Amino acid sequence: MFDLIIIRYGEIALKGDNINDFISQLITNIERATKDLGDFEISTVYGRIFLYAPSSKIEKIVKRLVNVPGIISLSPAQRFRIGKKIKKFDQEDFEKLKAKVVKLFQTEVQNYPTTFKVETTRADKSFPIKSPKLNSELGAEILKNIESQATPLSVDVHQPEHQLEVEIRRGKIYLFISRETGPGGLPVQCSGRGLLLLSGGLDSPVAGWLALKRGLTLNAVYFNSPPYTSARAKQKVIDLAKTLSLYGGTIKLQIPYFTEIQQQILKKCPQRYTVTIMRRMMIRIANKLAKINNEQALITGESLGQVASQTIEGLHSSNEIAELPVLRPLITMDKNEIIKLAKKIDTYEISIRPHEDCCTIFVPDNPVTQPKLEIVHFGEEDLEIEALVERAIEKMTVLDIKENF
Ligand code: ATP
Ligand code: MG
Repeated sequence: MFDLIIIRYGEIALKGDNINDFISQLITNIERATKDLGDFEISTVYGRIFLYAPSSKIEKIVKRLVNVPGIISLSPAQRFRIGKKIKKFDQEDFEKLKAKVVKLFQTEVQNYPTTFKVETTRADKSFPIKSPKLNSELGAEILKNIESQATPLSVDVHQPEHQLEVEIRRGKIYLFISRETGPGGLPVQCSGRGLLLLSGGLDSPVAGWLALKRGLTLNAVYFNSPPYTSARAKQKVIDLAKTLSLYGGTIKLQIPYFTEIQQQILKKCPQRYTVTIMRRMMIRIANKLAKINNEQALITGESLGQVASQTIEGLHSSNEIAELPVLRPLITMDKNEIIKLAKKIDTYEISIRPHEDCCTIFVPDNPVTQPKLEIVHFGEEDLEIEALVERAIEKMTVLDIKENF
């Protein structure tokens, strides 16, 4: 039924001179998110992006685009061709338009009884019929053709369940009946570079997506502790990075060798402080990697109070080590909000695969919730911090994760 998707972007329209860069970045990101579905023609028209595709693919493409940062909303749409100058639009064309509108309504609306209205935007003023006349005549046509005992239908101009929109722009007419909501935000690659601490859990991929949504470009680090963690645990992280790369482009996934650090911590540090100190070791490695790759921020999936280490004191002890701002997009979110987002961006099913993560293996029974910095410092005294960090990076593996990895 549909032959194109109208894509609306919001915030980026406010960016003055940079607008063309933003739009071309958004188009690149749209192309990337849909690359495996086909090669589609894309054009920009007055604050909109149009993506042309065969109707069989429209639904799949929409499902992808609702998660592409920078997109405010989108509508599968149909072009109405008239084959002559729009100001010559005559009664015969009007009858054809009516038929097309009725057909669209019939195909897309199934749940009766229902209400609707027709809403015309006549941006092209050379079009000879005014909006109120179009609205009422097209509305009447829909009622006449569709309304019956089996399909009770009425017009509601205030809160209709269905709004059939007619947009007349630059000599063309577009018809659509739904607006899917996009994530808003900024196109990826507009705000600088961040390093995501990506574990196999539910939280960090969502944190990564939220960072992408504000225009950050991402690389990732996953601390791996073989043989305590399996190859399948690592595969989980690779799959998560792959999903994020759909929205964010290539992600360099760095996997330092964390086993020795875990073992040393277990051996030499106060038992209740092992998680706190382990987290600081992660930050130390992340500092170094971010410096090498020119990243300007670290990103974690921490959420206040979610687990014992995610307290203000715990965050403080990590922040003390961090040499860059630590962004924690989930910090005030509840688990159910995070799960909802994870489902939306397709990371949920990967995250819940049952594989151990290095932290869970080494977590003591009774970890400290309010670590005291003096004890942390004292607890770290026996660790050869620099050497441990160096060796973890020396034995690191690096994968360039693309959407088709
Ligand atoms: P997640 O669901 O993201 O695993 P979590 O609720 O399990 O988080 P923690 O295990 O306390 O919480 O981890 C807090 C954050 O620290 C994670 O969101 C992630 O950013 C980072 N992190 C934890 N473990 C690792 C790891 N093995 N590799 C990389 N980052 C990690
Ligand atoms: Mg975790």
